[in-house]
Amino acid sequence: MRYSEMFLPTGREVPSDAEVISHQLMIRAGMIRKLTSGIYSYLPLGYRVIRKVEQIVREEMNKAGAQEVFLPMVQPAELWQESGRWEYYGKELLRFHDRHERQYCLGPTHEEVITDLVRNDIKTYRQLPRNLYQIQTKFRDEVRPRFGVMRCREFGMKDAYSFDADEAGAEASYEKMFAAYNNIFNRCGLKFRPVEADSGSIGGKYSHEFMVMAESGEDAMIVCDKCSYAANLEKAEAGRPKKVDSTEKDWLILESVHTPNVRTIEELSDFLQVGPQDIVKTLIFNADGKPCAILIRGDQEVNEIKVKNYLGANELTLADDEMIMQATGAPRGFAGAVKIKTRVIADYSVMNMINFVTGANKEDYHLKNVNIGRDCEVESFADLRVVGKNDKCPRCSGNIQFVRGIEVGHVFKLGTKYSKSLKASYLDKDGQEKIMIMGCYGIGIGRTVAACIEQNNDANGIVWPIPLAPYHVIITPVNVNEGDVLKAADKIYNDLQAMGIEVIFDDRDERAGVKFKDADLIGIPLRVIVGQKNLISGNVELKNRKSGETKLYPLEKIVSEIKKNIDEGLEQGIATTHAGGKTPCSRI
Ligand code: ATP
Ligand code: MG
Repeated sequence: MRYSEMFLPTGREVPSDAEVISHQLMIRAGMIRKLTSGIYSYLPLGYRVIRKVEQIVREEMNKAGAQEVFLPMVQPAELWQESGRWEYYGKELLRFHDRHERQYCLGPTHEEVITDLVRNDIKTYRQLPRNLYQIQTKFRDEVRPRFGVMRCREFGMKDAYSFDADEAGAEASYEKMFAAYNNIFNRCGLKFRPVEADSGSIGGKYSHEFMVMAESGEDAMIVCDKCSYAANLEKAEAGRPKKVDSTEKDWLILESVHTPNVRTIEELSDFLQVGPQDIVKTLIFNADGKPCAILIRGDQEVNEIKVKNYLGANELTLADDEMIMQATGAPRGFAGAVKIKTRVIADYSVMNMINFVTGANKEDYHLKNVNIGRDCEVESFADLRVVGKNDKCPRCSGNIQFVRGIEVGHVFKLGTKYSKSLKASYLDKDGQEKIMIMGCYGIGIGRTVAACIEQNNDANGIVWPIPLAPYHVIITPVNVNEGDVLKAADKIYNDLQAMGIEVIFDDRDERAGVKFKDADLIGIPLRVIVGQKNLISGNVELKNRKSGETKLYPLEKIVSEIKKNIDEGLEQGIATTHAGGKTPCSRI
């Protein structure tokens, strides 16, 4: 494409609302424009990159045996009522009605629609397994859209859904998608890692997020430096300690202490001259309307997601003052397990504590020398805390590192969550009716593009890896009015085009500096610089955007050299992908 004819509005100014580099660069490089909060248009350059990601996704999904469909974005309320999500989904679901007052939503995801499709047309085990996918626009009314297309309200997603007859089949479908995702992100040229993720109330290990490593990422995760364990911090396991039995001989006499104006762990620890690890914090949660006390050691933090999953709650919040008063008989800040009127669950960190300090369920009082078994009871111990810097890998006891990432994909074993409520059943070999087992698998297309920029940029702009580059080559004549420059550049342009190479010809009558700046900003991997001085000796210069390396090539060799560079760049991802499943990230 000739630059002079392109719709490519580049800019030097950093937009004031763009906090992360990918957002800034996507605006500056003329890839996207904001229409309104969380809703963006893709301009030609941006859309080319989107199409590249989509193409890789399509090829790998097809290779994995999935079949492409295209489902409606407007979905009737009745289907969502049937699955139970009309109420449950909350405000991210954009609901509206038509002229007949019938209610609809804009699809934030398509479990309901796909399950409806499949239940009507799949009747026997012979039609299973099936995996159907689409690449389509989703709408989620995010509370805080931010970071450009990374967390927006309207975005493109590849979503796939697998349907299997039994558990073993569902496991195999999951493994296939897991492998396909590794291939996809390798081919995109990304540094990524699959990590164990929270799978909500479904439980089990059947959820992995594919994280692109980036400091700016919203997700915190831990990775072991010895084994392959990696997990989202929300899910990261804290190992279970060995139970050390204490005897009554070790137990000191229970004491009530007057602690005026002491509410926080720090205040309590100062006041009583004990360490936070000698105190048990008691948090009262409201789990689906019922109070529940969670005990945890004073120096640890409760992981609400673990608590929610453990209790199997749909909604979990910290209890309000009224619920705390009812449960403990005291205002906030004095809760303790002794004589409390709720269920009591404790984190493993409390399991071996003796003679600890805790709230007395009485305003301005705490208790000293509390012992479980004598002074209070605990219904059960569980892993309910946030993993911290001092923790070790729960698998191999190796050291763990805290890193950040951007979730670009998610593979999830759904079980029968939707097939049960929507009655997606089939007849098995014995003619018995059985419920299908499902999996769902998402990739954020725009987010993948943004994540790629987060990993590939420098002070001058984007540095595209070959597989996602909107164009592979830009030809920059230094001065279009000098000697044979334009003619030579034009010939290279025509030759490259004839070979099907994606090329921009910067034919603008601009200063070389301006053209170089734009080329750097939009991040084209290879630049051919055509200048009169080199032309006299029959040469042009080839510059690599990433390494900054420049080299002179004779005119007649430049096209084949470019082709070689592009092929190498494209093959790199494919080579890591298909060499016997060898990927930078092994399965957990
Ligand atoms: P998040 O935790 O980031 O909100 P999610 O768990 O809601 O993500 P899924 O429902 O698993 O995401 O969606 C599949 C994929 O869609 C995600 O892995 C992500 O790449 C993409 N995605 C989700 N929400 C957004 C969004 N608001 N903007 C852009 N992409 C998104
Ligand atoms: Mg979300």
